[in-house]
Amino acid sequence: TDRLSGPEARAWLLAFADRISRGADDLTDLDRRAGDGDFGWNIDTSLGRARSALQDIDAVHPAEVFRTVSDTFLASGGTSGPLFGLWFGRVAHGPEAPWTVADMATVFDTATAAVQRLGGAQIGQKTMVDAMAPAVQALAGSAQPGWREALGEAAEAASAGADSTGGMVARKGRASYLGERAADVVDPGALSIAWFFASAADV
Ligand code: ADP
Ligand code: MG
Ligand code: MG
Repeated sequence: TDRLSGPEARAWLLAFADRISRGADDLTDLDRRAGDGDFGWNIDTSLGRARSALQDIDAVHPAEVFRTVSDTFLASGGTSGPLFGLWFGRVAHGPEAPWTVADMATVFDTATAAVQRLGGAQIGQKTMVDAMAPAVQALAGSAQPGWREALGEAAEAASAGADSTGGMVARKGRASYLGERAADVVDPGALSIAWFFASAADV
């Protein structure tokens, strides 16, 4: 159907956890070139906890699924852990019902604004925000009635956003210490967000 159900949201998050575990070494490599080399481990550890937690819950609505995933990030290390925890936590404030495309546009917009407030990153500063913001735009502008097609558009936008970080000088986080020297490196946080939206296609 057009609305995202709880079980579909769970399958999406489990597919995302799989994608991250396959790509953890590549993410860590990007963070090694532009940071301190722990990103892949940080995110994979949290999503590993999420994978077991998601087996134990009654995923009636997407909100419960995102709440569960958020909790596994809040205790995690690195700058990215609390930011992802906040993002998923705000997404979990969505309706306690299956989600329309409009619901998703609202929750991801609110969540991304919260990440920008906490982290202080603007678009173009080579962070996860560079993939989140275009995905929000795509969802808000989507004419698709169904979640699958709308998330496909969000995935394309997030992927283009992540690619664009491969030409940016970092202004936030550890990558900013390297400045111009790491300008050609894609931001691993942004790439992970692109994988997140792309994983909906595996449901
Ligand atoms: P650390 O630098 O503490 O090792 P991680 O390796 O866990 O942090 O996370 C690095 C990622 O965090 C970057 O790829 C970037 O996407 C994201 N990031 C860093 N600082 C910010 C910020 N201020 N706002 C948003 N995202 C940020
Ligand atoms: Mg790091
Ligand atoms: Mg670190």
